[in-house]
Amino acid sequence: MSFSQLGLSSSLCAAAQAAGFAAPTPVQQDAVIAVLQGRDVLVRAQTGSGKTAAFGLPLLEQALQRALPQEAARRTPRRVQALVLVPTRELAVQVGDVLRGLAAGLSPVPKISVVFGGVSINPQMMGLRGGTDIVVATPGRLLDLVEHNALHLGDVRTLVLDEADRLLDQGFGEELARVNALLPAQRQSLFFSATFGPQVSALAHNLLRDPVRVEVQDAPDTRPDIAQSAIAVDTRARTQLLRHLIQHYGWSRTLVFVATKYAAEIVADKLRKAGLDAEPLHGQLSQGKRSQVLDDFKASRISVVVATDLAARGIDVVELPVVVNYDLPRSADDYTHRIGRTGRAGQAGLAVSFVTAETEAHWRLIAKRQGLDLVLEAVEGFEPTEVAASPHALVDHSGTGGVKGKRPSKKDKLRAAAAKSGA
Ligand code: AMP
Repeated sequence: MSFSQLGLSSSLCAAAQAAGFAAPTPVQQDAVIAVLQGRDVLVRAQTGSGKTAAFGLPLLEQALQRALPQEAARRTPRRVQALVLVPTRELAVQVGDVLRGLAAGLSPVPKISVVFGGVSINPQMMGLRGGTDIVVATPGRLLDLVEHNALHLGDVRTLVLDEADRLLDQGFGEELARVNALLPAQRQSLFFSATFGPQVSALAHNLLRDPVRVEVQDAPDTRPDIAQSAIAVDTRARTQLLRHLIQHYGWSRTLVFVATKYAAEIVADKLRKAGLDAEPLHGQLSQGKRSQVLDDFKASRISVVVATDLAARGIDVVELPVVVNYDLPRSADDYTHRIGRTGRAGQAGLAVSFVTAETEAHWRLIAKRQGLDLVLEAVEGFEPTEVAASPHALVDHSGTGGVKGKRPSKKDKLRAAAAKSGA
């Protein structure tokens, strides 16, 4: 199938070709057609499958149609036609870049504004003057801009939630409800993610009107090519093992996930002291530093980034061969997003997870939910010697707040109460 068969204008088909897209990916084939028909969509497609262009191309097509003379009059101050919400600032920048890249050759060029927190609000307010076609935003800053009267959401015709399950979960719940209250009831809504837990799915369905469901998942020909392995290692030997693997296998670029900001700093520092050009990436860094680290990583100026889950969603580093779970993720869904930073756009990738005695039970849970049947490997010279404090260790000492999905049973609680009372 070609882009022109999806109902896109010739200038947009040319823009896709110029971006290096020879043909639409499976998710683009299904989603573009449904969006152009005006339908709400719920898209579950694996990481790296071309989701950004799957909503970006039809959004730009809609912007072109609305630029026709009879529609152009509608672009009035502070109005916005399409709103793309994303959970992180980094993703806002990336999505904005993709949309602007595709829009560059169009006539007229749709106006795309990218707004996110951590940087001065004034240039963003100036940028929104005179209205805009598409706003890409993180929820908090979007609401700030509405409060500053720089933006009016009452005319939004299309809402996109990228990484929708993350935006719909508790962390963003209140902000999203406030945004929702500002949007017109009559609108098109497009939800995209690689994962949708059952609760989020139910919530999504409440917000969508008779959606077209697009599921591009798990088909052998569309599954990302990511080799996965799990290595048993002692907690304290993980940094040395990481260094050994990077050097032994000559990994050109490695994204390492840890559980806390503190760990990101410590591990990156140790790697730097060992001669590797590693940088931490987490939410406590200034926005300038965060952007710089990601830019340097994408441009191969640094070869190792040690990140919190801030970098787990949507971030697209072309030719990122390896992702390492130095600390295990909290949930199987988070695992999907983390390892999905590699094996993108048809390339092969490798995901390595470090499993310690304390996290082995948690690993088994993730592996089970992922349908993984991996033998825990050991690397020569790093064979584990630690044993778990409790053979059924369900408490995760990585600082991530415990094992998601495992709560103490009634019996566990009774036992704990008995122990406490000295019985
Ligand atoms: P995304 O899932 O949107 O982050 O895209 C993942 C990667 O696929 C990015 O590097 C895109 O540039 C690339 N990509 C998106 N659409 C296509 C396409 N139709 N053909 C080839 N590569 C694509």
